[in-house]
Order: sequence, then structure tokens, then C-alpha cells
Amino acid sequence: MARQRRPLSATRLTKFREGLLAERAQLLGTVEDLDAEADVKNWRESGFDDDPADAGSASFERETAQSLSLHARNLLAQIDEALRRMDDGVFGDCIGCGMRIELERLEALPYTTQCMDCRRREETGR
Ligand SMILES: [Zn+2]
Repeated sequence: MARQRRPLSATRLTKFREGLLAERAQLLGTVEDLDAEADVKNWRESGFDDDPADAGSASFERETAQSLSLHARNLLAQIDEALRRMDDGVFGDCIGCGMRIELERLEALPYTTQCMDCRRREETGR
């Protein structure tokens, strides 16, 4: 695969930034919804006249909401980091080897900080 050291064009950067900001806004809403849901389930579960089957499924749903919320928060942190890297002018550069991350990879995962090679190396334990 051809690697480029040429910086991302301003147009592309703007597109990435817009995408990241849109995803960020959406995630913030998701986190809010999920937290509210986990709260409601929490409250319902503590009710004394609940059917045990209902309580069990409420607890499962609460855990699901909590784990989804955690996942969304994790993603949010990565997006914030990507936006910060954009401000620093290093967005799209691999933190492992310093080379430009493949454009297709960036388009699929704009908040990634590693190129495919480094990612693969990390996954296989170097
Ligand atoms: Zn790399």
C-alpha cells in the first residue's frame, strides 16, 4: 500500500472534523439516554412488589445500558482525543511509527491513532 507523508488536505480535515463532531453530539445524547435508562431500571429493581422475572430482566437491561454507556463514553474519549490531535496538527499520523494512517482506515475509524501495521503488530503482541 502506498504510504504518504503529505498532510491531509484542509478540505478532508474539515470533513473529518465535522464527522467527529456529529458523532460526538450523537454519542453525548446516547450516553444521556443510557444513563437515564440505567437509572430507571435501578429504581424499578429496588421496588418491592416486582415480579422476580421482571426484576431479573430489568437488571439485565440495566447492565446492558451500563455497558453500552461505558462503551459510548470510551468512544467519546477517543473522539475528543482525535479532535485534540487535529488541533495539534497531528491528526491522521500514526502514534506508533509516525507515518500517515491509511485514508480508508481513517474514513472507517476517524479516531484511530494507529496505522494498520502498528495495530496488527500490537494485536499479535509484536
Ligand atoms: Zn504505524
